[in-house]
Amino acid sequence: MYSLSEQDREIQARARQFADELIPLETGVELAGGELPADQEAAHKARAIELGLHAANMPRAVGGGGCTSLQQVLIQEQVGRVTNALAWVVATPPSWLPDVATPDQLERYVRPAARGERDECYAITEEGAGSDVDAIEATASRDGDDYVLNGVKWHVTSYNAADYAFFQGKLTSGEHAGEHAMFLVDLPSPGVRVVRTPPYMHTLGHAHQHPIVAFEDVRVPAAQLVGAEGGGMAFAYEWFRFERLMVAARCLGAAERLVAEMTSFAQERIVSGRPIAEFGAVQAMLADSLTELFAARSLTYETARGIDAGADLKVQHAQCSMAKLYAAEMAGRVADRAVQVFGGRGYMREYAAERFYRELRVERIWEGTSEVQRSIIADQMIKRGPGRLA
Ligand SMILES: Cc1cc2nc3c(=O)[nH]c(=O)nc-3n(C[C@H](O)[C@H](O)[C@H](O)COP(=O)(O)OP(=O)(O)OC[C@H]3O[C@@H](n4cnc5c(N)ncnc54)[C@H](O)[C@@H]3O)c2cc1C
Repeated sequence: MYSLSEQDREIQARARQFADELIPLETGVELAGGELPADQEAAHKARAIELGLHAANMPRAVGGGGCTSLQQVLIQEQVGRVTNALAWVVATPPSWLPDVATPDQLERYVRPAARGERDECYAITEEGAGSDVDAIEATASRDGDDYVLNGVKWHVTSYNAADYAFFQGKLTSGEHAGEHAMFLVDLPSPGVRVVRTPPYMHTLGHAHQHPIVAFEDVRVPAAQLVGAEGGGMAFAYEWFRFERLMVAARCLGAAERLVAEMTSFAQERIVSGRPIAEFGAVQAMLADSLTELFAARSLTYETARGIDAGADLKVQHAQCSMAKLYAAEMAGRVADRAVQVFGGRGYMREYAAERFYRELRVERIWEGTSEVQRSIIADQMIKRGPGRLA
C-alpha cells in the first residue's frame, strides 16, 4: 500500500519499532506528571541516534540522515503514535540552517545539533504577536560589533531542554531598520530569564514546558545573526513547510493508534451481551475515522512526494498547509470519537484516547492555526488557480 520502496519500508519499520518500545512507558509517565528520569530520557535519545532516526531531516554533508521528505514523514508518523512527548527524542534540528549558516555557525550549531549534542528552541511568538508575526515588538539594535536584543517571548517550547534559542526581533537602525532579523542566542546568557511557566493542556514534563521568556539587553556578537541583514526571512518559509508537513505526519500516527485501539476495544467490550462493535452507531465512528485517516495519509504522502520531485515552491507551500489543516482537524475528530467509543474509560488518563484528546488539540493551533492555513490555501488558489494546487 502507498507504493513505498523497500528502503522506505525499512526506515518506517525502524521508527515503528522505537515507538513500540516507548508506548508501554506512557501511562507511568502520565501518572508521574509527565516526568521521566533524566538518565532514561538520555537512554531514549541514544537509542534514537543508534536507530538512525535522529536528525533524519538534516543533510548528510553536516552529519544528518539525508532522508527524503517522504521518509521523514514516515519517521514522524511513528513519533506521533506515542503520547507524553516520549518520542520527541527523534528530533528534527533546523534543516534550513545549513544553507544560510556561516562556517562558524556550521561548526558551533549545525553539526553538534545533527549529532544530538545541542538542542534548540524558538523564541518568536509574543503576547501581541502570534498569527501575525509582523506584529512582534522585540528589537535588535546594532552596537559596535554586537547586537543588543530585547523582547518578551511566549510559549517557548522546550526552553528548559535547549542550549540555544532562535530569537526573532526587528532591527532598530541602519539600512534595514524595521525589518525582521533572527539570532542564535546561547543558553543560558546574561539577560535571558524565565518570566513564568504557565501550565498547559498536555502533560509533557519539565523538559518540554513552554515558558514566557524575557530577553533584556542581551548582547550577542554580530556573528550570531542568521543570514544577512535585509537578507529576508526566506528560510522561514522553508521551515514552515517542513514543520507543517511534520505536524501532519504526527497526526497520522496518532490517528492510526487511536483507530487501532478503538477497534480492538469495540470488539472486546461487551454491552447488553454483544460487542459494541456490532452497534451501528459505534461502527460509524470506526468507519469515519479510518476513512479520514486514509484520506489524510494519502494527502500527506503525496505532498511529501511532490517535494521530493521538486514541485514548485508555492505549490509545496499550499499543499503543506492543506496536509497540516486536514490531518490536524482529522486527528482531533478521531480523538473525540475514540473517547466516545471508550466510554468512561476514554475520560481516564490511563487511556491513550484521553491523552491524545488533550495532546492533539494544539496541532490545530501551533505552526499556524487552521484558520491561517485556510487563508494561505485560499490566497494561493486565487493567485495560481486551484487546478495547480490539487
Ligand atoms: C503549546 C504551544 C507551543 C508553542 N510553541 C511555540 C514556540 O516554541 N515558539 C514560538 O515562537 N511560538 C510557539 N507557540 C505559539 C503558536 O505558534 C501561536 O500560539 C500560534 O501561531 C497562534 O498565535 P496566537 O496564540 O497569538 O493566536 P492569535 O494570532 O491571537 O489568534 C487567535 C485566533 O484568531 C484567529 N486568527 C488570527 N489571524 C487570523 C486570520 N488572518 N484569519 C482568520 N483567523 C485568524 C486564529 O486562528 C485564532 O483562532 C506555541 C503555542 C502553543 C499553544
